[in-house]
Amino acid sequence: MVLHDFTCEQGHRFEAGVPSMTSPDPACPACGSATRRRPSRLNVGGRASTGVPRERMPRSWEGVGRGDREAVAHWRKVAEKREALEERHPELAGDRRPVLAHEGVFAGRPLRAGDDVGAALTAARAARAAEQAPSAGSGAAS
Ligand SMILES: [Zn+2]
Repeated sequence: MVLHDFTCEQGHRFEAGVPSMTSPDPACPACGSATRRRPSRLNVGGRASTGVPRERMPRSWEGVGRGDREAVAHWRKVAEKREALEERHPELAGDRRPVLAHEGVFAGRPLRAGDDVGAALTAARAARAAEQAPSAGSGAAS
């Protein structure tokens, strides 16, 4: 459930919950005419926050306190806020392709659907080698 402020063609203003960000706008409860969403109050006045990128949200059961009710509710709220933000600023959404591999050599450089596996593997290995020898090739001649 996502709370939105709506305004109708007659100028009535109301707040209503819709199941998701992409749900159709409800009819005005006062006059029944079509409505449109008003900018969320989250974004009015207060300081702009970009929230938490998807990559930093917990993906595991452990990440949400093994299903702890408050932890789940908290992250759901964070995710909804981020979703709302990304709807207005799609450039913040980043790479939303599914992650195919994120362990081993792909830790920190996830392999995503559509990536060239060979090239991604080569790049990941090169990056890892560079991390293990950070001074090599940096021009630090002694
Ligand atoms: Zn109305």
